[in-house]
Amino acid sequence: MERLDRLLARLGLGSRKEVGRLIRAGGVRVGGEVVLDPGFKVGEGALLEVEGRPVRVFRHLHVLLHKPKGYVTSRTEGPSVYALLQGFPTRDLSPVGRLDKDTEGLLLFTTDGELLHRLTHPRFKVAKRYLVHLERPATAEDQRAFREGLFLDGKRLLPAELLIGEDPRRVELVLREGRYHQVKRMFAQRGNRVLYLKRLAFGPLELGDLPLGAARVLEREEERALY
Ligand code: URA
Repeated sequence: MERLDRLLARLGLGSRKEVGRLIRAGGVRVGGEVVLDPGFKVGEGALLEVEGRPVRVFRHLHVLLHKPKGYVTSRTEGPSVYALLQGFPTRDLSPVGRLDKDTEGLLLFTTDGELLHRLTHPRFKVAKRYLVHLERPATAEDQRAFREGLFLDGKRLLPAELLIGEDPRRVELVLREGRYHQVKRMFAQRGNRVLYLKRLAFGPLELGDLPLGAARVLEREEERALY
């Protein structure tokens, strides 16, 4: 059993305050009946409707953010990425890995600690694809070196795939681990410099056309692909 306001907030329908207001205004039905008490206890499998639309009840919430530059993946330092998650139950959401302050792109948040562990543990080798703008053109030697595995902090990195297209200063890099400043340090080791970095994909999730600074709940298929 879970409080109705907490459940709706957890499902990403608004902050506790917002969903409380919605409930008191008669916008929420449980099992077909309007419920006006935000503290009403909802059992598993209950049929929920919010403003006439059925709401899927799931145990965990996963939110995808298109992180802009200038935000820190931290609760305590600012400006924090959590400032971009207004309306979501931020207290329950943890970032799946981090992006540097000056990196843009896909940042996933989840309420599921087990999933978080699985997606970030090196053993699971989840692929992360980055768009990288470079000071100097990337070369076939870089490709080879990355594929063989560079050494960082005395350890050999997993093979990484460097995709060079029309413009060798605008490349894509696929990593299967996430060490501190890894992309920047890999190119630095090759005598190059990262001017712009954006994460385009994380495992099966793609940033797509989510606007910069916007956040959304994962679609059912995306969620399924993570488990
Ligand atoms: N590699 C980096 O150097 N920075 C990031 O934010 C992510 C990967």
